[in-house]
Amino acid sequence: MQEPLRAENYAYEATLEYALSADQKDNLSSFRKEFLFPLQPDTQKPYLYFCGNSLGLQPKNAIAEVQSVMEKWAREGVLGHHHGINPWVDYAEQLSPQLAKVVGALEHEVIAMNTLTVNLHLLLATFYKPTPQRFKILIESPAFPSDRYAFVSQIQWHGYDPQQALIEVAPRPNEFYIREEDIYQAIEKNKDSLALVLLGGVNYYTGQLFNIAEVTRKAHEVGAFAGFDLAHAVGNVPLSLHEWEVDFAAWCSYKYLNGGPGCIAGIYIHERYARNQLLNRLAGWWGHDSSTRFQMGPNFIPISSAQGWQVSNPPILPLACLKASLAIFDRIGMQALRTKSILLTGYLIFLLEKLPGIQIITPYNSEQRGAQVSIHIRRDGKQLFDYLYQKGVICDWREPDSIRIAPTPLYNSYQDVFEFYTILEEGIKVYS
Ligand SMILES: *Cc1c(COP(=O)(O)O)cnc(C)c1O
Repeated sequence: MQEPLRAENYAYEATLEYALSADQKDNLSSFRKEFLFPLQPDTQKPYLYFCGNSLGLQPKNAIAEVQSVMEKWAREGVLGHHHGINPWVDYAEQLSPQLAKVVGALEHEVIAMNTLTVNLHLLLATFYKPTPQRFKILIESPAFPSDRYAFVSQIQWHGYDPQQALIEVAPRPNEFYIREEDIYQAIEKNKDSLALVLLGGVNYYTGQLFNIAEVTRKAHEVGAFAGFDLAHAVGNVPLSLHEWEVDFAAWCSYKYLNGGPGCIAGIYIHERYARNQLLNRLAGWWGHDSSTRFQMGPNFIPISSAQGWQVSNPPILPLACLKASLAIFDRIGMQALRTKSILLTGYLIFLLEKLPGIQIITPYNSEQRGAQVSIHIRRDGKQLFDYLYQKGVICDWREPDSIRIAPTPLYNSYQDVFEFYTILEEGIKVYS
């Protein structure tokens, strides 16, 4: 087997010349031109954009894709559902082959639908059936607030007490990210009462990438389901959900997938469940067998795939954006993207390590992180963050003292990273 690529061993240099030459050698550098960068109002210069972990940039090809839906609607009205090119009736399904590649699944294991938190609830309706023996959900801490709200409300809705039912595994005192052994220990400790392990693939706050395959194996060993919220993992790191035997997953499409604000989200259900029409779910007509859906019969017969979890007919305009973006991912492939990502993010870490007054809280090891690097600022963090913004940097502030920076391999360059470093260095001189 090939050694994993490790940015830790790479010979970086903290000079603009180095950054420029790295960009020249980067065979993905031309993709930057396919995205629209927001411009600074006074200079009309593009911002240094490091917020792909929050809202990915607009791919230029999305405009034509949306336009074509608008024109089809104008031309065909209701006929557009079933007629012409790209009929809306199976528009979501048409994206499944590309979506499946991004998450490492079979086509019938994925579908674009709804939005993330809604999908978590729909999946829990099937996969969280607590009994007095098995009722616990294990999550990471800090989990994304929306996820925690959703899980607590699910637990309460089933009549259980979150104090007992929610197991939260946090970093140890004075450590920044979670030790994987602590997750495995918590699984083992709760082995008789654990219903579900539900982690983020990549933690939203620290950028820690979990060992999804191993967590899944450990959950299965004790008879629990393994589900993942892949909001920060999809389009960021290669995934092999089917091979890893992950039971189910959900993600949003507006972060690394560049689907646009509030874009339609996606789910994955392993085929051993996706094919099972007897599984309980919260049903709606779009999950009904498509060959008889429009007979409008009284009884629900689910599609024997992840599509059977669809509830409503999907919004086509956001799907058009997602289609445009997935076409770009398809041209590159997650492996090539990951190779660049490891090196580009490694460069950022290499530079950040030279600076006083900050503490990197993301794992250095490239097997335990994606594109995001989070830093604690020792003093006056918010002022420093505002300074960065004044100087044309868009990154992301998290209370009380953290900044998240995501060099996304699709459209960020080594030059971006180097320029960010010089601005941050100046800012630290002013504020600390
Ligand atoms: C971004 C994000 C969300 C957002 O949920 P929406 O339902 O799309 O508003 C939820 N969970 C995690 C882990 C996220 O990173």
